[in-house]
Amino acid sequence: MKTMNNASFDAIVVGAGYIGSSIAYHLCSAGLKTAIFDQGSIAAGASAANFGNIQIQDMELDKSVELIKLGRTFFSTLENELDWKIGLRKIGGLLPIENENQWNVLSDRKDALNKIGIPSEIIPGSLLKDIEPYLDSSILLGGLYHEFEGQVDPFQLIWAYLYRAKQKGLTEFFHTQVTGFDIEHDKIQGIHTSKGDFVSKNVILCTGAFTRRLGNSIGKNWNVHYVMGQSMVTEPVDFILRNHLASAAFFEESAEVEKGTLIANMAISQSVHGNILIGESMYESDQYPTSVPGKSLPAISSCWVKYFPRLENLRILRSWSAPVADVRDGLPMLGPIDNIVGLYLATAFRSTVIITPLVGKTMTQLITMGKSELNIESFLPERHF
Ligand SMILES: Cc1cc2nc3c(=O)[nH]c(=O)nc-3n(C[C@H](O)[C@H](O)[C@H](O)COP(=O)(O)OP(=O)(O)OC[C@H]3O[C@@H](n4cnc5c(N)ncnc54)[C@H](O)[C@@H]3O)c2cc1C
Repeated sequence: MKTMNNASFDAIVVGAGYIGSSIAYHLCSAGLKTAIFDQGSIAAGASAANFGNIQIQDMELDKSVELIKLGRTFFSTLENELDWKIGLRKIGGLLPIENENQWNVLSDRKDALNKIGIPSEIIPGSLLKDIEPYLDSSILLGGLYHEFEGQVDPFQLIWAYLYRAKQKGLTEFFHTQVTGFDIEHDKIQGIHTSKGDFVSKNVILCTGAFTRRLGNSIGKNWNVHYVMGQSMVTEPVDFILRNHLASAAFFEESAEVEKGTLIANMAISQSVHGNILIGESMYESDQYPTSVPGKSLPAISSCWVKYFPRLENLRILRSWSAPVADVRDGLPMLGPIDNIVGLYLATAFRSTVIITPLVGKTMTQLITMGKSELNIESFLPERHF
């Protein structure tokens, strides 16, 4: 049944996190009459929960090479393009190495990174203090170091995208949940929402961890899961961290874990305001809690105190939890949905911050030209797993 009685748009973006706000900005810049919807307010999902680190360490380095390289290129001019201070600062990235297995895995990763033009080196344990003075290097064999990573203020970046998009005509619908789609003859015609129906022949889902639920509403079983990422933040202190750090354990072969099992790893960086951002423990879940269960806090603390004993007495101001979309092959979902013309997906990126401009441009090219400069073959949402 067709019940469309609301406004009509060239394109509708669902989800106002990093990905949706960038896509909305680029669609508006290309002259498309665009609307963005979010069930909460701006950045109601993982985008408000993250550290804003521009990191390359955790990217998939086989099929994602072009994504990383083009992503870096476009990111380098972003602040100028948006004409907005997004809190961009250059810091290094360091992965401390505890054992021989990690040494081997990260040595291979160093070679792979250098091969694609991202200068990386293994620093021996005895020299780690030169680049990270408070790190307890006595427990470490060394670390994988990238000098050229960085950090932004997540809220400033998302706000800048949406503010500039609004200046180019974006219409925003916050606190409006998209509940389903109007599809006729295998073509998208619009969306159903908690505030009525809206018409568009292009609908882009940037719905992160919530994507599967929307797919189910049209009989699709998209292979996107999510893990709950949990973190905390300390009171501000003098600048003591020079890099953002993450456990090398992230890269060790891990066996399939049972739902609900808590995996704690160290991820730590310092914000521009001096607060120390500390993560993270993760577990797979079917729910979307925003608080951190009691058992997670000691799990997180024991990880970072082991590396930074001198930070042990810092006061924790707040802890939080958010669902992060995850696809088992480590690749994002980016591109058109099979057999529904006009419906697109853009979710589950690793190192989301750095690829936001590239994804915005790519989706806009797909919608306006039917093809993109970035080869998205490996990222097609309904690829065979
Ligand atoms: C603790 C922590 C630290 C992290 N640190 C980093 C980091 O330093 N660097 C980095 O690159 N990444 C980091 N990440 C990962 C990063 O936060 C995510 O990859 C990123 O935010 C995903 O952005 P997104 O726009 O795809 O999804 P989200 O930000 O989750 O946005 C999805 C949006 O869709 C909306 N939505 C969903 N369903 C509907 C619906 N039916 N109707 C309307 N709206 C809907 C949601 O409300 C939400 O706002 C971190 C994550 C966590 C949890």
